[in-house]
Amino acid sequence: MENVEVLEDLVTEGGSTCPVCRHRPAAMRIDLGDYRLFECPGCGCWSSDALIRSATVSFEPVSYFANTDADRTRWEGLANRIDTADTGVGSVLDVGCGNGAYLEFVGQRLPNARREGIELDPDRAAEAAARNPDARIHVGDARACLPQAEGPFDLITLWDVFEHVPAPAQLLVDLAALVAPAGRIYIQTIHEDSLVPRLGKLAFRGSGGRVSYPARRSHEPHHLAFFSRRGLRLMADRAGLDISDLWFDRLDRERMDGSPLVVAATSALLMLENLLGNGLFVNLILEPAELRESGDSSPRNDRTRGRAGD
Ligand SMILES: [Zn+2]
Repeated sequence: MENVEVLEDLVTEGGSTCPVCRHRPAAMRIDLGDYRLFECPGCGCWSSDALIRSATVSFEPVSYFANTDADRTRWEGLANRIDTADTGVGSVLDVGCGNGAYLEFVGQRLPNARREGIELDPDRAAEAAARNPDARIHVGDARACLPQAEGPFDLITLWDVFEHVPAPAQLLVDLAALVAPAGRIYIQTIHEDSLVPRLGKLAFRGSGGRVSYPARRSHEPHHLAFFSRRGLRLMADRAGLDISDLWFDRLDRERMDGSPLVVAATSALLMLENLLGNGLFVNLILEPAELRESGDSSPRNDRTRGRAGD
């Protein structure tokens, strides 16, 4: 037994405090050695104490940003889904904008839109600025940079970012204050109710911790929070946002590792999961809740109403 008391005192974000419920202590379920995974009994979200424990961070920016074709397909998917041109999106904030490739895409599609980006890594931020000379790029932590952003924004996007931030629920509250009354926040993140993390955890538990690779691979140390659908709904509620659209993607085959047989089997399973309305990546479109309460009947709401599932 290690000194849990001391550790508990140090924990402020992630780890044994649920990143969604905050006040609620989460239970330690999986000990991967250099970091541990916790499950919140309240909302079903999982979190990691990798940040607090300074576990080795395996983040590889090059491989992360290498899938531009697949990324472009996703960007186009979002643009088509929210009809950016029709609804007059005049301002876009990309949180965690990386090398600025998405902002560049937005600039091509909506040449008159005002664009801003926030990026933690100075080198990637410099690349984003060079790619987007007309955009404002803020360098630093998302929440720390938000006061410099010139809201309100018609569209705020977070691509592969939400699972990296230590206080996602707070970030969402801050973003809700920056989104225009008829604007939207788009989040793409990892879905903990997917088959992949479930199988990883099952393998770990079933083997008494001997088979740890699948659990580690599906809960890498640079990811701090792993969201259940219930947790996402709770977080949206607390930020005063409605989920107006929700859909799932599967992991690209190019991003998988292992033997060809393992990749083929995993790929087939994920395809099946996707067909059943679930997936490793969850996409959410959120909008200010007041709109619907005040009986707004804009074409935007008519289009998106009823798509969010439950
Ligand atoms: Zn929770």
